[in-house]
Amino acid sequence: MNLQALIEDIRQQVLPFYDRGQVADYIPALASVSPHQFGFAIHTLDGQEYGCGESDVPFSIQSISKAFMLALTLQADGEALWRHVGKEPSGNPFNSLVQLEYEHGIPRNPFINAGALAVTDRAISHFGDAHLQLLAWLRNEAGNPRLAADEAIAASEREHGDRNAALAHFMKSYGNLDHPVETVLDHYFHNCSISMSCLELARAGLFLANHGASPQTGRQYLTRSQAKQVNAVMLTCGTYDAAGEFAYRVGLPVKSGVGGGLLAVIPGKMSIAVWSPQLDARGNSVLGLEALDRFTTRTGLSIF
Ligand code: GLU
Repeated sequence: MNLQALIEDIRQQVLPFYDRGQVADYIPALASVSPHQFGFAIHTLDGQEYGCGESDVPFSIQSISKAFMLALTLQADGEALWRHVGKEPSGNPFNSLVQLEYEHGIPRNPFINAGALAVTDRAISHFGDAHLQLLAWLRNEAGNPRLAADEAIAASEREHGDRNAALAHFMKSYGNLDHPVETVLDHYFHNCSISMSCLELARAGLFLANHGASPQTGRQYLTRSQAKQVNAVMLTCGTYDAAGEFAYRVGLPVKSGVGGGLLAVIPGKMSIAVWSPQLDARGNSVLGLEALDRFTTRTGLSIF
């Protein structure tokens, strides 16, 4: 199969979907991104790399950072992590407060904002500087020592972060945060604000396709079982309220972010990153979903 020709063809097919969605603007600094961009990158376990469109343009990874943060913290915390956060889909918006009260401050899963804040809190307990730990890991795996958070986006998130602050205070009141709310938020916002390209993301996510071991650096980050767990949570909770539609149309573990990026994993084969900033009503990249749907349909590659 000629994967390079295939992704270029898919790119042509999805470009007409421009302007069927909108760039996220609830974080004002995200709204300035040029909307008509599309990147597609693949990294295979046997070391091949493919990219087309704007696959080398850095963008704000936003909630895709939650998948890496989960892996990093699971590695350090093991099963104990699941006392602080659940692993069930939420069926509520990613920043909902309602469910948290019903469930006594234990967020449904690590990919809604409350869950990611709880994971970040655990990461601070283990690493001290959770953001630097994540950044070091991503720099190493993506092969780019200059990867960094976009400080303008981090500041914009902080300035408009009342809801995330409310979630964190709420969890703290239930005893589910060990560190000061401001500290946890600061690490969380910086993680969301990391800029990466599709090529870098696909490279960094490859360990999830390889049962927890990085083919690049040879490091075993997660046990085989933990890699399965992260992929399972991505499949069931990784794309906001559209996890059912993604499982149905794409059939892969996927984590999305409001920057318009999507990281998808084909266990045993490859990792894929797609980016296009215009989002559908549920917060996922319009062109990204169309592209992944076409990719798995045309290759027959999915986990099902
Ligand atoms: N930093 C964003 C927030 O906390 C992440 C949202 C997302 O990508 O889902 O609202």
